[in-house]
Amino acid sequence: MKDLTGLGPWVRANASLQGMLLQGMSGTAEFLAEPTSLDELARLVRACTHSGQTMRVLGEANNVLVGPETIPGVVLRLTAKPFREVTVRGNTVRAGGGASVDSVVAAACNVGLSGLETLVGIPGSVGGALRLNAHDEAGDIGDHISRVEVVTNDGQIITRERDELKFESQGNNLDDAVIAVAEFELEPEAEDGILRRMKRAWIKRKVSQPLRSGAMGPVFQEPTGMNAGELITKAGLSRHRIGCAEVSHRDGNYILVRAPAGADDILRLLQLIQQRVRERFHVDLERKIAIW
Ligand SMILES: Cc1cc2nc3c(=O)[nH]c(=O)nc-3n(C[C@H](O)[C@H](O)[C@H](O)COP(=O)(O)OP(=O)(O)OC[C@H]3O[C@@H](n4cnc5c(N)ncnc54)[C@H](O)[C@@H]3O)c2cc1C
Repeated sequence: MKDLTGLGPWVRANASLQGMLLQGMSGTAEFLAEPTSLDELARLVRACTHSGQTMRVLGEANNVLVGPETIPGVVLRLTAKPFREVTVRGNTVRAGGGASVDSVVAAACNVGLSGLETLVGIPGSVGGALRLNAHDEAGDIGDHISRVEVVTNDGQIITRERDELKFESQGNNLDDAVIAVAEFELEPEAEDGILRRMKRAWIKRKVSQPLRSGAMGPVFQEPTGMNAGELITKAGLSRHRIGCAEVSHRDGNYILVRAPAGADDILRLLQLIQQRVRERFHVDLERKIAIW
């Protein structure tokens, strides 16, 4: 395998992921890359492609489980300023793929731009939320996207315009290697209307979902025409616990994880859920979280 540390000091070999994963979960990456510019990011992707190394993007790790073995290839984090920045120009909010969803919601609301306020409280980065098509009752995160700057699998930096993008309830066509920057086109609106919707969404989320710190999920895809959380609860698994991992009583499709988290317990709980739901409802739940 090619040694990628030659790309710059922003690539480290055999790097610990301590502090980057959920609830103190430990993990090690063969290479950890934190490029400082879009050009460095594109160089990294090209180097991975040419040397046949796998590259995985780590956002805020709400949907990533890391096993005890060193993750082969590159773990990429978008921690540098160009990927964390959120700026507002006119009705456009521009956010790096590594910026938090909450920071984008706050930036828009602060200047009286509406459209994203009901996403308040969804944990995760812009890149992770776009990759997983974060949504709520009001719609998808993609509804207000005007363009996305991505790095393709062969290391080209390109802009995907709105008319190329498809956002549907079960996914989207943003399947490039890295979502680097996203632009949202929003509508000006009086502050009180935005704040009212934001408050309502926040209260609803607080009663229907676990609190953000120490929760992971949704852990399974929604089976067609059904609700995974309801199936899990009806299978009698609410609050079922294995070691550090417990099924949320608010929504069975979320797992509460206590520190220090271990991937083993979480995996065993996911397997048990799949088995019980299969036995009880003859439904195969498909895992949504990534296991590295
Ligand atoms: C308490 C709680 C409440 C939630 N509520 C909702 C909700 O109401 N609605 C909803 O839709 N979802 C909800 N979610 C899910 C949430 O949207 C995702 O967990 C979150 O968006 C993942 O972002 P992340 O940065 O943590 O991504 P990670 O978990 O780090 O990564 C997730 C996936 O995205 C990929 N990825 C990350 N960044 C990038 C990037 N820049 N480019 C390309 N790929 C990337 C990763 O490789 C991985 O495959 C909730 C989750 C929790 C824990």
